[in-house]
Amino acid sequence: HILVKKNFFFDQYYQHNGPVIAKQLIGDALRHRVESIDHESCDPGDEDTFFVSDLGEVYRQHMRWKKNLPRVKPFYAVKCNPDPKVIQLLAGLGTGFDCASKAEIEQVLDMGVDPTRIIYAQPCKTNSYVRYVANKGVKQMTFDNADELRKIAKLFPDAELYLRILTDDSSSLCRLSLKFGASLDSTDELLALAKDLGLNVVGVSFHVGSGASDPFAFLKAVQDAKTVFEQAYTYGFDMKTLDVGGGFSGDTFDQMARVLRQALDEYFPPHISIIAEPGRYYVSSAFTIACNIIARRTIENPATGKASYMAYLNDGLYGNFSSIMFDHQHPIAKVLRSGTRTYYNTPFADGLPEAVNAGIEYSIWGPTCDGIDRITESIRFAQELDVGDWLYFEDMGAYTKCSATKFNGFSDNHDVIYVCSEPGARAIMDF
Ligand code: PLP
Repeated sequence: HILVKKNFFFDQYYQHNGPVIAKQLIGDALRHRVESIDHESCDPGDEDTFFVSDLGEVYRQHMRWKKNLPRVKPFYAVKCNPDPKVIQLLAGLGTGFDCASKAEIEQVLDMGVDPTRIIYAQPCKTNSYVRYVANKGVKQMTFDNADELRKIAKLFPDAELYLRILTDDSSSLCRLSLKFGASLDSTDELLALAKDLGLNVVGVSFHVGSGASDPFAFLKAVQDAKTVFEQAYTYGFDMKTLDVGGGFSGDTFDQMARVLRQALDEYFPPHISIIAEPGRYYVSSAFTIACNIIARRTIENPATGKASYMAYLNDGLYGNFSSIMFDHQHPIAKVLRSGTRTYYNTPFADGLPEAVNAGIEYSIWGPTCDGIDRITESIRFAQELDVGDWLYFEDMGAYTKCSATKFNGFSDNHDVIYVCSEPGARAIMDF
């Protein structure tokens, strides 16, 4: 398979100046695209929002993972951003994939990935999807309740099951344990039922919540998982794997990884395989989005004599900024192009400090009719921005495009321009 032929790149570390090269490549891609648009005469859609994705950043995150968590094999959480090039790169780098639905599983299988590299990590599955995975040989899946065990016993008794346990996810951005996970006082009963049904429990999984901020949530979850492993041994299950879920993010990764690494070494002997389901960690910083200012409303302030503006973009909360609603994010606008000048990655691109009341104040809005569709309440820029100018937002790779809608008839499918700041990733992708 083309996807796995270049495995020798696994051990090659990223280039020292990769992030600097990334800035240049992303800047060139943004500039080239926006400068090619004639706002006076372009066709509908030509000025649409677009992404620039640096696959080199995904590669760097993978190398960072291998360095910090060498024992843990990542299964990328496709839901976070099912971008085909990201999946192709990660497949080439040898990761597994965490899929939540038939469509995600199909997408990964269609790329030539072996079914053993997929975990169907959804504790409450659709019957017909279970029949589908049984047919395709995707055996690994999670469960957290008795009804699901009975479903699996009927539809796929040979499945390799992970008992997903509840965690303390109170420090995370998106709490998942409100919905999923077996409490520790129910695990013994579930294991007994699995035994009665003749099912094959092979591991334990957990998720400390997406955007987790307390590394000790991992420690507690690993300790709880150890307790459930011991319970499972008493029922005669051959427990092989611990799945430590997702919840990692770029800024806190090193600290989280340290706590997790130590906990794993303390509680799980080397013959137990460890896997994880990182999503956000891999893609958040790899995508930058550029949006066009389609309309502007001037707000006069007679008291100060200074005008402020409402800037309306061609993307918002119902589109790629869905992360504001669903993922509790606060994307920060920067000026990409104002008039005939491009400002990417210059100090003039950034907002000005509120404290000094400098520059011109803007609120930033999406294009739909809904008042909730506001990206930024207040930000100040040195430039006077007008219709046709462009803003950009970094760190837009996680839970953005995948949860965009077509509300009000706006497109939910925007171009992605790929660049690649790492030779190792370029070789895998035949860039
Ligand atoms: N695994 C499961 C089961 C999830 O529900 C999620 C996110 O919702 C993830 C992994 C990915 O989490 P994250 O993006 O925080 O790494």
